Amino acid sequence: MNIVIAGGGVAGVTAAEKAREANPQAHITVFCLEKDALYYRPRLPEIVNGSLPVEKIFAHPDAWYQERRIELRKGETLIEVCADNNQVRGSLGSRLVYDTLLIATGAESSRPAPVNYELPGVFTVRHLYDAMTLHYEAKRNKSAVIMGAGLLALEIAGALGSLGLTVHVLERADRILPRQTTPGSAAILKDYLAKQGLVIHLNASLSGMYGSDRLKRVEISDGSAIETQILVVAAGVTPNLGLAKHMGLKVERGVVVDDFLETSKPGVYAAGDCAQTRDGAGGLWTIGRAEGLIAGHNLAVPPGERKAYQATPPSSTLKVAGLDLVAAGNLDPDGKLDSAVHEAEGLYRKVVVDAGGLLVGYTNLGTTKGNRELAAALGKRKITPDELAALKSPDFDFAALKP
Ligand SMILES: Cc1cc2nc3c(=O)[nH]c(=O)nc-3n(C[C@H](O)[C@H](O)[C@H](O)COP(=O)(O)OP(=O)(O)OC[C@H]3O[C@@H](n4cnc5c(N)ncnc54)[C@H](O)[C@@H]3O)c2cc1C
Repeated sequence: MNIVIAGGGVAGVTAAEKAREANPQAHITVFCLEKDALYYRPRLPEIVNGSLPVEKIFAHPDAWYQERRIELRKGETLIEVCADNNQVRGSLGSRLVYDTLLIATGAESSRPAPVNYELPGVFTVRHLYDAMTLHYEAKRNKSAVIMGAGLLALEIAGALGSLGLTVHVLERADRILPRQTTPGSAAILKDYLAKQGLVIHLNASLSGMYGSDRLKRVEISDGSAIETQILVVAAGVTPNLGLAKHMGLKVERGVVVDDFLETSKPGVYAAGDCAQTRDGAGGLWTIGRAEGLIAGHNLAVPPGERKAYQATPPSSTLKVAGLDLVAAGNLDPDGKLDSAVHEAEGLYRKVVVDAGGLLVGYTNLGTTKGNRELAAALGKRKITPDELAALKSPDFDFAALKP
């Protein structure tokens, strides 16, 4: 059996690993556009601030792939698939026939207007070389502007701030981390980041940039200007859908897949940031890995032995030095559901339940207390009205949440 995988990120490599476990005989080939084998993308901010040696970011040594007989074609993009005769073509000339195929092409940083991305000094951070180049530039500069205030933006801002740069963060919305915070936790977080030296501009966007051979100055929508040679655009990601579209697969925000992670073409699967399951598109390492495990199994077994993917609520952690923030599931920012909020100096916890009392979301800022128990209970355990009332107390005993 021939299994071909497009994409050597966490979804693709996890799928290859799982396919090998399920089928010791299969030929497994992974096309990997990047020259680097799988690395921990969420750790790129540590490359930006120089705290992680580059060699430590890789998930596996070359021997790991060899031992599992996974043929990793580093630096070779899968450019063409002919679904009529199951043939694929790689950018370095490989031609292969597949029995099953996985699209795990991930995503790229979004590039919204009006930025000139060709101008030296303008960065996005998605790949290892992006992070290495930004580190090099940061060591030679005193200030930076970050466009966006999502998780990635704040982590990059924190990394540059720790190198001694004055960092300005521009957010269009009226609070930072709009997707992972409630107004209450966002205010605490903003104070914390301001004390770390980050200058946060809310309701602000980039209105102009100046410099001929290198960025020199940016203007923001309130009319002010910032002299800087570094602009990092961290405004979300765009799934890589070119290959899927070229194959004629059903595509919406991502490659549409069913519960087995199979696309609109039989035998062709999709997983990770490029895939769109019934619960929506991915965008997280944890989801890419979970989907890779199921897709890898399904690529390698007869149709009757396939497994269905069970979505877990998305959970994100902000990795900024000295700060703990976890946000998982539905945080109900508009206050439509029942919830328990505990707020104190530098601390914010909100636990959200649905109409039936099921725990559907939580956020915990300034402490890790309760994270493990809340994660285990999320989407699985009902919270009684008495427990919800008790969760407002700083001394709540989280051991009581055991299923
Ligand atoms: C700085 C940063 C911090 C992050 N922090 C977190 C975090 O804290 N927690 C979390 O859960 N997630 C985090 N993420 C998101 C997480 O890294 C992604 O969700 C995850 O990497 C997606 O994995 P993937 O395999 O689907 O795609 P990718 O990691 O994008 O890998 C896809 C690979 O396929 C390659 N490719 C594309 N087209 C082709 C083709 N035609 N042929 C061959 N190869 C191709 C791409 O170049 C890429 O190497 C972070 C991301 C970044 C950038």
